[in-house]
Amino acid sequence: MSIVFLNHVYLPAEEAKISPMDRGFLFGDSIYEVLPSYNGQMIGFNLHINRLNKNMSAIDIGLKWSHGRWMEVCEALLEKNGLGNLGIYLQVSRGSVPVRSHAYTKNIDPTIFAFSFEIAPEQLASKSKVTPYKVTTNLDLRWARCQIKSTALLGNVMHFQNGYQKGFNETLLYNGRNELTEGSTCNAYIVKDGVIATPPLDNHVLPGVTRHILLDLLRKNNSMQIEERVILMDEVFSADEVWVTSSSKEIVPVVEIDGKIIGNGKVGDIWLAAQKIYSIGKRDY
Ligand code: PLP
Repeated sequence: MSIVFLNHVYLPAEEAKISPMDRGFLFGDSIYEVLPSYNGQMIGFNLHINRLNKNMSAIDIGLKWSHGRWMEVCEALLEKNGLGNLGIYLQVSRGSVPVRSHAYTKNIDPTIFAFSFEIAPEQLASKSKVTPYKVTTNLDLRWARCQIKSTALLGNVMHFQNGYQKGFNETLLYNGRNELTEGSTCNAYIVKDGVIATPPLDNHVLPGVTRHILLDLLRKNNSMQIEERVILMDEVFSADEVWVTSSSKEIVPVVEIDGKIIGNGKVGDIWLAAQKIYSIGKRDY
């Protein structure tokens, strides 16, 4: 039975209750984080809490918890639910209100909810051990505030489900100018002639913690050229390699998009080199 944290109390998941008048439920007025932990060691803790704080500021939630307070909750969840390969989910909603109204006041107590769930084992830097993705593509029909990690994910859910129900692992998104934005649950990259490129951060892309760690490690390693730039979908289809990243899956190679083979259809050498660098360096974040 999994133990969750809800408003300062640890309790079995089935006993955790929130009001239907919670604005997270009524409006998606809420933000969240997912951070990975392998055998009790969290990856990117400070980066995730920094983003959580930034997102709370972005939507005007005034909760002021120190990194240490969040650490206590994360460590308690790991302790209570057993170590292993766990994702830690943290959510802060604006809280419950007596009357449903778009307007909010500043004196509402936020609802703080956290739980842990099993994730895939750490990605191994091995061509034979990784399961590459086959993905589809959609015109990005989400909102224009994708830099906020909001729980209002209906747009992402619809894009993901569109691919999932056709047997694809993920849906890559592009804007009205045919430029790659990201995946419905991940950031996206192409590799061409040894150069790694990913779309620049703006309001159509979530600033992924995995993206941050990966780019930082690659730059420090200084053996590969990195570009943050606009990427046209034609470039995606003609890339040598395509990858996606997120906290729960690290770096995943994509070998087929909308039935078209990417590169030689096999997991690429640059992916292998990048995943090696990521696997070695990620624990420093
Ligand atoms: N983009 C979207 C839309 C996501 O949902 C996620 C992760 O959930 C990411 C990118 C990757 O972010 P991170 O690396 O912080 O997990």
